[in-house]
Amino acid sequence: MTMYQNETYEFQGDELESYEVEIRAMLYDALKNKTMAAFSELQTLREKSQHQHDTITKLRGEVFKMQQVRENELLENTKQAETNIRRQFAAGFNVGDEIYVIGSQTTRTQCEKCTGSGKVMVDVLGKDVKVNCPHCSYGVIIAHYYFPQRRPIHHININSNIWRNHKDGKQNVGRIDTQITLYLSESGDGIEVHKNNSQVFHTLEECRMECDMRNNEVR
Ligand SMILES: [Zn+2]
Repeated sequence: MTMYQNETYEFQGDELESYEVEIRAMLYDALKNKTMAAFSELQTLREKSQHQHDTITKLRGEVFKMQQVRENELLENTKQAETNIRRQFAAGFNVGDEIYVIGSQTTRTQCEKCTGSGKVMVDVLGKDVKVNCPHCSYGVIIAHYYFPQRRPIHHININSNIWRNHKDGKQNVGRIDTQITLYLSESGDGIEVHKNNSQVFHTLEECRMECDMRNNEVR
């Protein structure tokens, strides 16, 4: 008897095959479930990882923003400190400041007393004498009207001298004289700042007061 001729073997094989199918199906299901579980776990891990990645990105963004804020604050503080130092050098003024200066308007009218001739006749010891009109200047009355003008400071010139000796000969080494000149345009005349200054004003009220005083002096 040879194996090839064994009918029983083939028959037995068929029976084993159906048994195997069941096992295979069971194994397949088990493997499928396991694979599904593994996939599910992997998916969860991926989501977790993505969430962590998002969190890290978000935190990095927040840290970057905070750094920006800090840097801006530092920059702003430094600028402010520089501005303060500049003001200390320039008697409280700084480039770009809006200050008030005295503007003036001049009007010229013909003198009515001498009808513009600049001469009037006066009686001197019974004699008519021609003299210069006391009411005008060569027949013209010149009147000034003063008013506040708001102007920005274009640039500032600071000129300092450190002295060896005082004028009277006394030793006064190191005395510092500083002359501050404010310029209201690139090429215009400068205005010197003095301790009791009456040319430049920080406020409109101060300037108006000085203008009123000058306008009243004229009248
Ligand atoms: Zn006159």
